Amino acid sequence: MLKLNSVVETPLSDHVLEELIPKAKDYALMHGAGMRSKTNFSQDSLLVAPFALLPSTFPRVEFEKAVSIQTILNELVHRVAHDYSFLKETLKNACEVDDFTKKLFEIYEFIQKEGPTQPLSLGLLRSDLMLDSNSSSLKCRWKQIEINTIASGFGWLGPVSSEIHRYVLTELGHHEKIKNLPENLALSGLCEGMIEAWTLFNDPKAAILFLVEDITYNICDQRFHEFEIKRLNPHIRVIRQTLTQIATESRLSEDKTLLVEGVPVAVVYFRAGYTPDHYYSQVEWDARLMIERSTAIKCPSIHYHLAGAKKIQQALASEGVLEKFLTSPAQIQQVRDIFTGLWSLDYDTNGDAAVELALKTPAKFVLKPQREGGGNNVYGDHIADALLSMAGTQERSAWILMEKIIPPVQSNYLIRADSAIQCSDIVSELGIYGVIIGDKNHIISNRQVGHMLRSKASTADEGGVAGGAGALDSPYLV
Ligand code: ADP
Ligand code: MG
Ligand code: MG
Repeated sequence: MLKLNSVVETPLSDHVLEELIPKAKDYALMHGAGMRSKTNFSQDSLLVAPFALLPSTFPRVEFEKAVSIQTILNELVHRVAHDYSFLKETLKNACEVDDFTKKLFEIYEFIQKEGPTQPLSLGLLRSDLMLDSNSSSLKCRWKQIEINTIASGFGWLGPVSSEIHRYVLTELGHHEKIKNLPENLALSGLCEGMIEAWTLFNDPKAAILFLVEDITYNICDQRFHEFEIKRLNPHIRVIRQTLTQIATESRLSEDKTLLVEGVPVAVVYFRAGYTPDHYYSQVEWDARLMIERSTAIKCPSIHYHLAGAKKIQQALASEGVLEKFLTSPAQIQQVRDIFTGLWSLDYDTNGDAAVELALKTPAKFVLKPQREGGGNNVYGDHIADALLSMAGTQERSAWILMEKIIPPVQSNYLIRADSAIQCSDIVSELGIYGVIIGDKNHIISNRQVGHMLRSKASTADEGGVAGGAGALDSPYLV
């Protein structure tokens, strides 16, 4: 297994750790790297969010490559989202067996028939990637894990992680190293995207609606967006509501303005609605449809949401498909280079061969359904069970098979509230943020706006921070 050198020599002495960890925890908590407790929820308190004590070494060349490709990925997603027949054809089989994808697609069809009232979409995207130590040379190159088109979180927890690491490196007497922590303006970049969309809506009285879960554990990440919007433009009202609340407290005016308790909505920013768990009954689906029918600029609009499906990612990796959406051969090659092996499990595209491949060496693959939010994928020995139980059924079409990326490890300390500290091998996943605004024919804005890094124990399958296995981190460029 490839091991990268840590930013400072590890392990650190007990004496250093005993002094540093409480300070670092306080620094994190007092600068907004917090989460609500899941076991002891209180509106009045925060727990320190899990974080890596040291920034993680990341090759500068690969970081810069990831940053520079983001605007091409933004454009790709935008074009895919506006291609009705590609979305329909690619998601057709998944819609037959996966009720969630089907319901999203029904909203999309409804809007297509009715005619969209708001041609603009706001994309706040996050392309996630890992360094791949599978590659033949010792130099790791990164490969894409997925691209998120809905609720791309950590726009605040990303930047604050670099701040924690600046402080930690300075405390450790390595102040000279902080120049290798790249600037991270994700929070302002994402909020400027929302404000740009709000400005395009052109109603000074209109609000930005944050669509949220019943309980928001990752509250800092959302509130800092809210505070940043207020800082950039004190006149913009931000409203937080759940889909259930929207169903009862909102309506469409005659010209299809979305009115939340009478206030017109310019932009809807979804931090919920990406999993079936957020739709308790038809009421929430009705709310989603109402939002989609409205003149508000949606982040994401329904077609952007669909364009983020795992099935779409897999289809884009098939031969000749990128060429439908990008014209420059150099760009097509750049994007193709970041894809790792992706296979359809559809019967009509030789899914049986992919199944055979996976059954032979399951440790080399990840099996993914059409879901977001972490914790849904199948790994290792469970892949065989899952595939065998789906054998011959249509359900298999709603999954894709992906080559497992084996990232390099490095030593670090994952710090959690109330937990023992140990030096361990961790692996990281980098996310790059993109902002794109446009309609079917015109792209008004297209930018790369920052990054986030999450790390997890090298033995963990997934590293969701809110889910518990992952920790905030930041890249240290070498
Ligand atoms: P989600 O939309 O639920 O976040 P992801 O595709 O990002 O789904 O998968 C969740 C997690 O699973 C990732 O954050 C990563 O830790 C792990 N993972 C996903 N795909 C791969 C892969 N191809 N190789 C290694 N790990 C992966
Ligand atoms: Mg995702
Ligand atoms: Mg993910």
